Amino acid sequence: MAGPCAVESRELLFAAADAVAGAGAGLLRGGAFKPRTSPKSFQGLGSEGLSLLAQASQRTGLPVVTEVMDTRDVPLVAEHAAVLQVGSRNMQNFPLLREVGRQSKPVLLKRGAAATIDELLLAAEYILQEGNPNVILCERGVRGFDPSTRYVLDLAAIPVLRERSPLPVIVDPSHGTGHARYVPSMARAAMVAGADGLLIEVHANPALAKCDGHQALTPEIFAKLMVNLHELAPLCGRVICSVAAADSARATRSPRTNGNPAGSFPAGILPDGNLPDGNLPDGNLPDGNLPAGNLPAGSQDRLDAGQAPRPNSFDDEVIAP
Ligand code: PEP
Ligand code: MN
Repeated sequence: MAGPCAVESRELLFAAADAVAGAGAGLLRGGAFKPRTSPKSFQGLGSEGLSLLAQASQRTGLPVVTEVMDTRDVPLVAEHAAVLQVGSRNMQNFPLLREVGRQSKPVLLKRGAAATIDELLLAAEYILQEGNPNVILCERGVRGFDPSTRYVLDLAAIPVLRERSPLPVIVDPSHGTGHARYVPSMARAAMVAGADGLLIEVHANPALAKCDGHQALTPEIFAKLMVNLHELAPLCGRVICSVAAADSARATRSPRTNGNPAGSFPAGILPDGNLPDGNLPDGNLPDGNLPAGNLPAGSQDRLDAGQAPRPNSFDDEVIAP
C-alpha cells in the first residue's frame, strides 16, 4: 500500500495515486485526519480529504486505507475507505479500538512507538473482541536513542508476530526510518523477513509535502522499488499478488481460512507454498498457523473461558506492497 502521508490537494493526490497504481501498488494510502505532534502543523483536510480519496480510488481502481483518530468519525471514514488505519499514537485508545471493532471494514493497527509486541497484540484483541476479525498488524518502528533514523524499525517483530498471531503483519519502512534513502533497503528486508505487505509513503513532489516529505519516495523511486521487490520475491520464496489474483484466491479459499469475509483484503505478498487453495508443500507450516503450543492472541483467554480458540482466519490473507 502506498501514497502520500497526507491528502493535500486534488492534483497532488491524483498524481501520487496514478503513480502508485501504475507501479503496481494494491492499495492507496493517504491521511485525511492527521495526528500531528504540534497543533500548529497541518492537520489534514478532514472530510474533504476523504472525498478526494474516494475520487482517487474511483480513478485508479485502488481501494483506500486512511486513518481514523476519533470515535465520532468512524462511520464517515468507513464510508469512504476500504481499510481503517489506527495510528501508532492511538494504538491504546481503547474506545477507538472498540469502535473500529464494531464496524465491518478491516483495520490496520500500527504499533505504538513505545509499545511492546504484547501490547500491540492486546490492542488488536480489543478490535477482535468486538467481532471484527480483520485486523492487520503494522510494525512502524519504536523509539530509540539514535537520531540517525526517525525510529528503530523492529524487523524482528515480524517473525515474532507471525509466530504468536495468525493476523497478517505489514511493515512501514517510511516512518520506521524517516528518510527516503533508507526506505528501499528496509522494504526489501521486511519482505525477506516474512512481512505480508508494506506501507510506503510516496509523494508526487516530496519537497512540497506538508508532512513527512523527507521519508516520501518519488514516483520514480517507488516504481524502481516495485520492480526490485518483484525480482526479489521469488528468491526468498514470496509471491507478490495483484488485486485480481488476491480476489481469485479469496474466491477459492480453503476451509482453513473460514471466518474471513470475502473481499476483505486486496493484493499483497503471498509466501510461496502457501497457495490460495490451501495446499502446502510437505513439512511446511501454513503461513499464520502456529507451531504446537502457541496460540493466537486471545486464545488462552478464550480457552480459559471455555470457548473455542479464534479460527486462523488470516493464514493465506494478503495485503498490498
Ligand atoms: C502515518 O501512517 O502517516 C502515521 C502518522 O504513522 P504512525 O501512526 O505510524 O506515526
Ligand atoms: Mn506519515
